[in-house]
Amino acid sequence: METQTGGGTVPDGLTVEVTQHTARMRGSDHSPPRCAALTGRLGERAACGIYDWRPSPCREFEAGSEACQRARVRHGLLPLMP
Ligand code: SF4
Repeated sequence: METQTGGGTVPDGLTVEVTQHTARMRGSDHSPPRCAALTGRLGERAACGIYDWRPSPCREFEAGSEACQRARVRHGLLPLMP
């Protein structure tokens, strides 16, 4: 697991244990979802509050990818131009 308790870097207080071996970011299952580590306002100025310690799915997520474009649409933002 990537939490600090599990030997990783992600602060425990920002996560919720899902199984013995997995956790998710707190707030990521809310409707609408909002990671507890996110600061600022989407579409204006937002940033990851734990950027250097973020979990691997966040490190692997590519800005401008299809998943990124879909996420933007879900949050009412225009797609990034190529
Ligand atoms: S990059 Fe940061 S704010 Fe975004 S989901 Fe990951 S931990 Fe949360």
